[in-house]
Amino acid sequence: MWRLLLGYVRPHRWALLAGALLSLVTGATGLLLPLVARGLIGDLAHDRSITWPLLAMAGLVVANAAVGALGSYVLRRTAESVVLGARRALSSYLLRLRITAVDRSEPGDLMARITSDTTLLREVTTDSLVALGTGGLTLVATVVLMGVVDPVLLGVTLAVIAGAGTVLGAIVPRINRASRRAQDAVGVMGASLERILGALRTVKASGAEHREERTLHEAAEESWRQSVSAAKWSAAAGNTAGLAMQIAFITVLAVGGARVATGAIDVGTLVAFLLYVFYLMSPIQQVVGAVTQYQTGAAALARIQEALRLPAEPPAGPAPLPTAGAEPATLAFTDVRFRYADDLPYVHHGVSFDIPARGMTAFVGPSGAGKTTVFSLIERFYDPGSGVITLDGCALADWDLPRLRSAIGYVEQDAPVLSGSLRDNLLLGNPEADEDAVTEVLRTTRLDGLLARLPQGLDTLVGHRGTKLSGGERQRVAIARALLRRPRLLLLDEATSQLDAVNEAALRDTVADVARSTTVLVVAHRLSTVTMADRIVVMDAGRVRAMGTHRELVDADPLYAELAATQFLATAG
Ligand code: ADP
Ligand code: MG
Repeated sequence: MWRLLLGYVRPHRWALLAGALLSLVTGATGLLLPLVARGLIGDLAHDRSITWPLLAMAGLVVANAAVGALGSYVLRRTAESVVLGARRALSSYLLRLRITAVDRSEPGDLMARITSDTTLLREVTTDSLVALGTGGLTLVATVVLMGVVDPVLLGVTLAVIAGAGTVLGAIVPRINRASRRAQDAVGVMGASLERILGALRTVKASGAEHREERTLHEAAEESWRQSVSAAKWSAAAGNTAGLAMQIAFITVLAVGGARVATGAIDVGTLVAFLLYVFYLMSPIQQVVGAVTQYQTGAAALARIQEALRLPAEPPAGPAPLPTAGAEPATLAFTDVRFRYADDLPYVHHGVSFDIPARGMTAFVGPSGAGKTTVFSLIERFYDPGSGVITLDGCALADWDLPRLRSAIGYVEQDAPVLSGSLRDNLLLGNPEADEDAVTEVLRTTRLDGLLARLPQGLDTLVGHRGTKLSGGERQRVAIARALLRRPRLLLLDEATSQLDAVNEAALRDTVADVARSTTVLVVAHRLSTVTMADRIVVMDAGRVRAMGTHRELVDADPLYAELAATQFLATAG
């Protein structure tokens, strides 16, 4: 963990050193003041002019303040830079997380790790690192001097300190544990908040505010409890150190007294040594304070490190989108077996199909058959357990990931709109799309009517997950976004399920048009969409039951015939 922290601190080590030195200088100039004051009083007593001593004093005070301010500014700035470094690293990493990792984590908790845990690094870096450095140096210097004065009494002092060290060794992990739990509770709070705010309408409609409020309060209270516990142990640690020094003082007095009596040392040595014991107090308190304070940071660091250990995709730059008129893709699944996790049942039990370039392929089958999973595998959100998926005859595993995804336009099954403006949403997948392309795609997805009604046009904000749009509008925005990428493979997962009959028919024509130059895969329920497909893949319980055209399948496959006769027709609008 130290290594992780040092990794964030290393780029700023000179600034940190400079800040620490400035702080030391402030302390030192402060120590000079009494000397100047002594000279000044002497001058007064002897009736000499005090102009120069006064000026020197004023200069010293001003310099002291300036150096002090500069020192704390440099330290604070360094700490903020460390926080920035950690936030940058974590943000980049979280964007590269594998979907499997996201499946297993709470987004709100990950958010807390970026926002709250990184903040805690601030105190650790400046205060505790600097205190540890300056306190540690003073400590070592004092101990060396004590050894020079009397090694025996040093032995006595170190024995007492070692005793206190044992007690502190038991206390410090408790601070760490409590801090960790406090931060975890903040993570739980983040997760609950994300869950509640993401579905506030449902929470209200279900009358579940009170229960959700309790969850939030419990997490907040747990964080309070653990922080208070950490404060309790920190106080214990601080006072243990103080107590140890008092005991050391008394013990040195007793042992030293005995040594003076036997003539081993003289009184002056004993007095000098006692003064050093007295001097030792402040750096020891400083070091103990730094160690206890570091525990909070260490807990935060541990949480940051955990996030940085989640499986992620390799870092890569953006890949260029297909050019206009790029060859459509071919796709093949060969005996693909897949499950979402090792402890979950298989979702695909040997799925195979071959899809030529161009044309539209419809995936049909009961809910839970594994249709969406087919699309997730094509995007390489997951890797199959066995079997091979190829795009353009090349295994997905051998594709450069950004390049693979840049070839694909994917409209997810749910909530495919992000908060922001309509323009942000449309250009998400292709920020370079020109005005003409946007206008054209708005026309083909029949969004031009909506746009004409919006006061701010493309700059209208659509709300969290597009709540200011209707379900059908959201779907058309998502389709427009995918089309703007000019994909070589277009995946539409129930992308027109919420459209009314007129819009659905129009979008069907658009998709048919796109399918002339692009390979299009759709998951669809409406018979009208399915019948116009060039081929239909019937899936059931993780297997491909049958493939063919509507006409062939009605005769050949009883499940398809039944689906066609009931579900499709019922929802055909
Ligand atoms: P379809 O799209 O055909 O309705 P899916 O491919 O979405 O079916 O899901 C197939 C099965 O996989 C379902 O039983 C579903 O519960 C399960 N499943 C889907 N996504 C996940 C996931 N992220 N983690 C675990 N199981 C999942
Ligand atoms: Mg699905």
